[in-house]
Amino acid sequence: MVTVAVVGAGMSGLSATHFLASKGAEVETFEASNEPGGIVRSTTVDGHVLEHGPQRLRLSKPVQSLVETLDLGDELIYGDDDQSLYAYYDGDLRPMPLSARDAITTDLLSWPGKARVLLEPLTRGPKPGETVEAFLTRKFGEEVATRFAGPLYSGLYGTDADEMYVEYSLGKALDRFGVEGSLLVFMLKKLLQGVETPPIISFEDGLGRLPEAMYEAHAESIHLETPVTDVRRDGESFRVETDRETVAAETVVFTTPAPTTAALLTDVDDKAAEVVERFSYNPLGVVHLRSSFDGTGHGFHVIDDGFRTDGSTWNASMLGRDGVFTSYVGSGDPTFLDADRSVVGRKAAREFETITGAEAEVLSVNVLRPGMPAYDRSWEALEDLSLPEGIEICSAFTSRAGLIGRITDGRKTAASVLED
Ligand SMILES: Cc1cc2nc3c(=O)[nH]c(=O)nc-3n(C[C@H](O)[C@H](O)[C@H](O)COP(=O)(O)OP(=O)(O)OC[C@H]3O[C@@H](n4cnc5c(N)ncnc54)[C@H](O)[C@@H]3O)c2cc1C
Repeated sequence: MVTVAVVGAGMSGLSATHFLASKGAEVETFEASNEPGGIVRSTTVDGHVLEHGPQRLRLSKPVQSLVETLDLGDELIYGDDDQSLYAYYDGDLRPMPLSARDAITTDLLSWPGKARVLLEPLTRGPKPGETVEAFLTRKFGEEVATRFAGPLYSGLYGTDADEMYVEYSLGKALDRFGVEGSLLVFMLKKLLQGVETPPIISFEDGLGRLPEAMYEAHAESIHLETPVTDVRRDGESFRVETDRETVAAETVVFTTPAPTTAALLTDVDDKAAEVVERFSYNPLGVVHLRSSFDGTGHGFHVIDDGFRTDGSTWNASMLGRDGVFTSYVGSGDPTFLDADRSVVGRKAAREFETITGAEAEVLSVNVLRPGMPAYDRSWEALEDLSLPEGIEICSAFTSRAGLIGRITDGRKTAASVLED
């Protein structure tokens, strides 16, 4: 009998394992793949470090604390924060107004469009049932909502802003940052208080170094290549089944995406499994390109219609990864991702060439399934989700998708399990 069985060793499962083990809990973690990290994966192709999931991280307190505990400080590399992020709008790359400089100089927004932002303090907070697009339009005007804030936020998840409810997505982020009234006033206060955003970081060998080090620190209790095939109730505890063994556990923590969690939960609580099955995801194509494009910036979001590319990160400029660019494709039409990988890669390269004017060749193509949690209207399922005692979910679909959110969720889940 172990205290806790953790299903999955992506950043959620590794964080839960790390915080449980550091509090002395007896924990066994099962991971289907032959490597830890899940979505966070880095490889080296032709001498280029490629990120298959997140491209970079911010050195916020939870990350800094892990970096120190795992002794990774010497491997850190820092990104250049003082660069623009672009929108590809009306056939050109135009800076998004993310800094005072870009807010004044950008031609992404007209002067009336920029002036409309000043009315934001007079508008109210989110209304029940309001979509992200309706909320942003009401707050900042249509131009900002459709050319900047909407695509910037909803593009992270590959979901249209009019398919996302504020209360299950953006509203939660606003709550977390303590934004109660005006967003503009909140940002101005932070600016005046001199609150600094933590720096952009990665590791020399890529972000995959973080889950790798977390795995190394707890290798004795993490079983790779051991997919969980079923979870069953056994009196007050649970039996966690794999092809190799069956483990009895007082608590089971699911860190797998919703479809896998639903399938594994069925024999424990079929009603909860049915609710979990309702959360939808957006599959995503990640294409690494090599190009001599010498633009300075963090990348671009595509606003214009008619492209399969949603956006691109300029690893070359942001992190000094020479010649490397990462394009995200497919959210507009997920059936495109069923095409042969070479077709997906070629399309991404040709569109990158159209947008930047520089030649590009494909280094690698990956299609992530189920992909990103959509945070769309299906998130109403959260209202109906009730888990049986002894079952915990520590995953992006019940909380925040970002890595910092995953680390924090792992710590909170560990605390809640041990308190029980
Ligand atoms: C392309 C992309 C870019 C992103 N960019 C950023 C970013 O810039 N910044 C940021 O903060 N966040 C970013 N995110 C979000 C973040 O990377 C993810 O939310 C996070 O990594 C998810 O971690 P997880 O452990 O919850 O899930 P996963 O990484 O999906 O881990 C789940 C694990 O469970 C395992 N598993 C599946 N089935 C079983 C089974 N039956 N038994 C045992 N194990 C199983 C899987 O193999 C996997 O390892 C990005 C995500 C994507 C897809």
